[in-house]
Amino acid sequence: MSGGGGIARGRYGFAEWVLTAAEGMTVRYAGKCLSCGERSPDAFAPDEAQLWCLKHAGTVRHSGFEVSAFQYFDAEMVDPDAASREL
Ligand SMILES: [Zn+2]
Repeated sequence: MSGGGGIARGRYGFAEWVLTAAEGMTVRYAGKCLSCGERSPDAFAPDEAQLWCLKHAGTVRHSGFEVSAFQYFDAEMVDPDAASREL
């Protein structure tokens, strides 16, 4: 099942891990002021993060911003037997 969330696999510490998008968690957006480091609340739409930047600019006259997208993931061990062998 890879419902658009993306999956990554990797073998670390003698066990295989899989990374899946956290249930119900879509991509989120946040604005950040490059002058003072203040950060907007997480938003579901890029417009909301950009609006925060404009409000911040209008309030404190800072002019450099970064809007980034991010997503939460869960890591799960898919080969627990391999991990117990390492004990
Ligand atoms: Zn600022």
